[in-house]
Amino acid sequence: MKLPAHLLTGILETLSLQIAVIDQESRILYVNRAWQNFGVYYGLPAEADWTNVSYLEICQANEDTNQPQILQGIQQVLNGETGHFKTDYLCHTPMHQPTWLTLDICPMKDTQLQDAQASTPCFLVSLTNITVHKQAELEISALSMMDPLTGLSNRRRLELFLRDEWSRAIRHQSGLSIMMIDADHFKLLNDSMGHAAGDECLKQIADILKKYTNRPGDLAARYGGEEFVLVLGQTTSQEAIKIGERIRQKVMDLNIRFAEHRLMTVSIGIASLGAHASQASKPTQPQSQWLNFSEDGNLLIEQADKALYVAKKQGRNRVEVYDKHHRLTAPLTA
Ligand code: GH3
Ligand code: MG
Ligand code: MG
Repeated sequence: MKLPAHLLTGILETLSLQIAVIDQESRILYVNRAWQNFGVYYGLPAEADWTNVSYLEICQANEDTNQPQILQGIQQVLNGETGHFKTDYLCHTPMHQPTWLTLDICPMKDTQLQDAQASTPCFLVSLTNITVHKQAELEISALSMMDPLTGLSNRRRLELFLRDEWSRAIRHQSGLSIMMIDADHFKLLNDSMGHAAGDECLKQIADILKKYTNRPGDLAARYGGEEFVLVLGQTTSQEAIKIGERIRQKVMDLNIRFAEHRLMTVSIGIASLGAHASQASKPTQPQSQWLNFSEDGNLLIEQADKALYVAKKQGRNRVEVYDKHHRLTAPLTA
């Protein structure tokens, strides 16, 4: 069925999709009303004439689209090197919130739609507003990285964060400390106060941990039930010990009593990247040549865990730093 021209125009002018037709030199031949309206939203005058303007030049003049990957993608479609290019980008506008757009460009299929005068192929550029979807996606992704009870990061986020901090520490040859924190006798606390009260205690511990992880290289994560991990970027073991002692004291200051006036406390184990480097068996080479995250990143957590085990063994409510000379064979005492 052939669509009458007036209906075709009506459709194009009614669509919320922003559409432009450009020629092989990226000259704009047509824009629809949605495109023009977005121009006004962007801050351009309503009477702005888009025709005969180079679309590539518009992209180059805009910081959000002046990216090699976007410009090359468009150019490759215009050159016929590829049949389609699609990308998402955040479009900043002077007066409104930034808008997420999907840019899509492809050659127009119907040869009758070629520009009659220039008789060159035409290309369809469309811009779809995907802000609502993108925001939902970002929220879901943030939620999937969070522990719902405490609002701290979960293990997944911890892994990603530690990977980044690890490479930063190697690049800048700076310190990196891991702190593992475990609530003491928490099973007993649950048994005497109830699980819901236990949950409240975990939230209060988490709130303390949040206060000590404010710098960009810091992260507090819930590692397991009553176990937490802090990543402390650019922090030596000596600095981490001070922070650990403060956290230990703050938990005592909560003054939560259970099972006949037993005070809620935490035990803390610390391991640091600098300390690990000095203990490794390849001291003559620079750190960056032989430390790698997949092998050594987990090792740091394991070392913090071993230090925590020692803290428990030594009577709990204390901070211990990993030391390869620690004897870890003795059984835990109550
Ligand atoms: P230790 O001092 O050796 O760490 O003793 P513990 O009792 O804290 O350690 P254990 O591993 O024996 O028990 C951990 C307890 O933590 C048992 C479990 O019921 C409790 N727990 C784990 N996750 C949660 C949680 O999400 N909420 C509450 N309320 N309790 C939890
Ligand atoms: Mg415990
Ligand atoms: Mg535990």
